[in-house]
Amino acid sequence: MSQRERLGKELLNHLEFQKELGVSLLGPRLERRPAVADRDRSAPPKVTQPVAVHVADTDLFAAIEASAPSESLETIREDLGDCQRCKLAPTRTNLVFGSGNPKAKLMFVGEAPGADEDRQGLPFVGRAGQLLTKIIEAIDIRREDVFICNILKCRPPENRNPEQEEITSCEPFLFRQIASIRPKIICALGTFGAQTLLRTREPISRLRGRFYEYRGSKLMATFHPAYLLRNPMEKRRVWEDMQKIREYLRSLDSDSS
Ligand code: URA
Repeated sequence: MSQRERLGKELLNHLEFQKELGVSLLGPRLERRPAVADRDRSAPPKVTQPVAVHVADTDLFAAIEASAPSESLETIREDLGDCQRCKLAPTRTNLVFGSGNPKAKLMFVGEAPGADEDRQGLPFVGRAGQLLTKIIEAIDIRREDVFICNILKCRPPENRNPEQEEITSCEPFLFRQIASIRPKIICALGTFGAQTLLRTREPISRLRGRFYEYRGSKLMATFHPAYLLRNPMEKRRVWEDMQKIREYLRSLDSDSS
């Protein structure tokens, strides 16, 4: 394929992605900018500091993983049981373990279940989840071929931000899920997922868009689909991030063929 053809195809893909995501053909500049009061509290602030990310234990984790057989997702789910380890247990309807392919090359990690997820016991099934499905399909992957879960397995009341002690009790199960699945890429969705996994307070606007080494996988952070629903102009950036994911997965496929 010539460079011209490739650029044409990429442009076509981009337009299809925008259409899929419901972006107006008039273009994002003409879309109403929400009033300050409407804006997402988690909207990324502008920062000029360099990104300082501490990804501890990555090599150690990878070495342990290489030598030890991993447990199955079923074992991890059984161990979670009717979890009462933190104060979210009494207010949840269903624990949301995660769903998808246990051998997925690509794993998405969101923040915590919302109302729809709590009701159904499945991750990303509400409006943000529908957008996530479109994002996944835009890079020619089926939702059932990835694995989707959250930092927290239970819904915080009124969708408030997760608290540190909740993360501390839930996180080991996420780490075990990662170790079991061994994805090639982990895509952290939103400020919270990215900051928790990367152990940093840097805003998502500075974390997104590049790969980090993470527990034997590559980690890409991008904006949360719920944030995109409120800030459609940022879909372009997610498209860029997803293209990087697609390119990396393709490069693995071509290496193995
Ligand atoms: N937002 C999340 O972070 N996770 C879900 O499962 C749903 C919405």
